[in-house]
Amino acid sequence: MSNESLANLLKEERRFAPPAELAANANVTAEAYERAKADRLGFWAEQARRLSWETEPTETLDWSNPPFAKWFKDGRLNVAYNCVDRHVEAGLGERVAIHFEGEPGDTRAITYADLQRDVCKAANALTELGVRAGDRVAIYLPMIPEAAVAMLACARIGAPHSLVFGGFSSDALATRIQDADARVVITADGGYRRGKPSALKPAVDEALSRPGTENVRNVVVVRRTGEETAWTEDRDVWWHDLVERQSESHTPQAFEAEHPLFILYTSGTTGKPKGILHTSGGYLTQTAYTHHAVFDLKPETDVYWCTADVGWVTGHSYIVYGPLANGATQVMYEGTPDTPHKGRWWEIVQKYKVTILYTAPTAIRTCMKWGDDIPAKFDLSSLRVLGSVGEPINPEAWIWYRHNIGGDRTPVVDTWWQTETGAIMVSPLPGVTSTKPGSAQVPLPGIAATVVDDEANEVPDGAGGYLVLTEPWPSMLRTIWGDDQRYLDTYWSRFKDRYFAGDGAKKDDDGDIWLLGRVDDVMLVSGHNISTTEVESALVSHPKVAEAAVVGATDPQTTQAICAFVILRGTAAEDEGLVDELRNHVAKHLGPIAKPKRILPVDELPKTRSGKIMRRLLRDIAENRTLGDVTTLTDSTVMDLIQAKLPGASAGED
Ligand code: ATP
Ligand code: MG
Repeated sequence: MSNESLANLLKEERRFAPPAELAANANVTAEAYERAKADRLGFWAEQARRLSWETEPTETLDWSNPPFAKWFKDGRLNVAYNCVDRHVEAGLGERVAIHFEGEPGDTRAITYADLQRDVCKAANALTELGVRAGDRVAIYLPMIPEAAVAMLACARIGAPHSLVFGGFSSDALATRIQDADARVVITADGGYRRGKPSALKPAVDEALSRPGTENVRNVVVVRRTGEETAWTEDRDVWWHDLVERQSESHTPQAFEAEHPLFILYTSGTTGKPKGILHTSGGYLTQTAYTHHAVFDLKPETDVYWCTADVGWVTGHSYIVYGPLANGATQVMYEGTPDTPHKGRWWEIVQKYKVTILYTAPTAIRTCMKWGDDIPAKFDLSSLRVLGSVGEPINPEAWIWYRHNIGGDRTPVVDTWWQTETGAIMVSPLPGVTSTKPGSAQVPLPGIAATVVDDEANEVPDGAGGYLVLTEPWPSMLRTIWGDDQRYLDTYWSRFKDRYFAGDGAKKDDDGDIWLLGRVDDVMLVSGHNISTTEVESALVSHPKVAEAAVVGATDPQTTQAICAFVILRGTAAEDEGLVDELRNHVAKHLGPIAKPKRILPVDELPKTRSGKIMRRLLRDIAENRTLGDVTTLTDSTVMDLIQAKLPGASAGED
């Protein structure tokens, strides 16, 4: 597609109607919106019946003490039984649950019957270590099947897990172990990243030498890389020694719907991570429903692949709980997308005939930067639905994804949600919605979301403000672990009776929702609110720009001045006129007020380990401040490189 036709496409605000065949056989049709609107709680009670309850709930929602919700509170269920055993009992034991693809190329096909045996043994193992319902277990593992097994084993015995992303340092691990007061840590000797073993156990040893971690009695270690590992006698135990000798049977015990399922810390884009608490029945209901609705999952025929890490909420909700509750067959990949070559993901899609792919804008933009010729070498014709999550997806990246990965056939669902919401909240439905590049569009059936102004009034179509959720939802966070007050202050005090998501948004003329980035990131320039997302999208729509991060820096004349950091596409050169060309390009798209004052080409942008751009650090740089909390940053040398380029490198002052 030429750049000109692309620009026209974006201008037309073109919509893509659902493919006829998908629409005709869609799991969820337009009627669901009406039904949910007429009786929201009845709708969720109906979705709860997707699960197997030991005791069926009679009460859907107890909202007598807002914002502390209780969903399905008199119901009892076992989450692991719902994700594993019931499929085996239904005769699906031979269905593959997980096609595991290790980075070095080793593979395992794990059926639901295998998974049941593994989870039972792991549950027995944890019980032998003295783990009881309510005890917290920290899980610090690479992307290997044992991560899912460990989570399900915890769920089976009612021990809330707290996953810590395997790329985090010992500092981040220690604070999470301390905050949750974990009793056991499950880890591995290491995992494979970028073609070589990358150790994990040393970070656990280091974390457990800190005060406040004394309650950790045991460390269970999966052998993945076979590298030599330091050992603490009486505390450390090999997974294979402990788990393999356990019985393959374990009777799942039912827990109350509100029994804690897990704690997960947010990615830390805006500051100190918060320990988000999720519980069982409501969470599993909404993750199962949304996975069925948003991806149109047909468990008999689909091969689903979510590229997130289990350490993020996307991995919890859309690798482990939602897909397994639905009896899906999925791919799990251990490594990086460019090992051993930049086509690895597409090779995996081709190999397993993946039909549904769920990934993040940061990955899509990286693939754009690497070039269209790479995915073009593989047969991606099995794909039928593509999803995006994590950040606003620029229209440019959306179109690239649909064209180069989806062969212009597949719907792209841009799913907005948060660690706090537990499951997808705003998203097109692939068989219903005519999709618009760059917009998450509409709240799902049963979800009440809107955009309000400073005074909490709903904004009219065509206007912007703050995204809020106006009714409780089943998979909502129940609190911040150990800090009810921070829960109230962060989410429920900005607007009365409404959940404040912290994200800016606008409604277009059709009433569709566009996410505009975090409220903390919105810029104020000469009296105008300007969204970082919109300026970034304008920059990325220039053929020479692969990625952009925009911040507002304090400015004596205009309150804030727009500063842009851009990564150029593979072949583009940083020539003389480029900065002016880019400034004019933005002005042409968004008007002169949005013209960046400074544009700095850089090689990398600071990102969280889940791939989100950390604008607050760029703001610190643009305002010559010392950097804030960098513990969730992927690579701190990135900041040094950017800082080094800064003096005198800015251009185009006027
Ligand atoms: P912290 O809250 O600690 O700053 P975080 O918000 O990055 O971290 P997550 O819960 O992983 O942690 O991310 C949720 C946020 O990601 C949303 O609030 C939103 O800003 C962004 N986001 C997720 N999906 C989308 C999407 N489809 N469109 C736009 N933004 C999205
Ligand atoms: Mg957040």
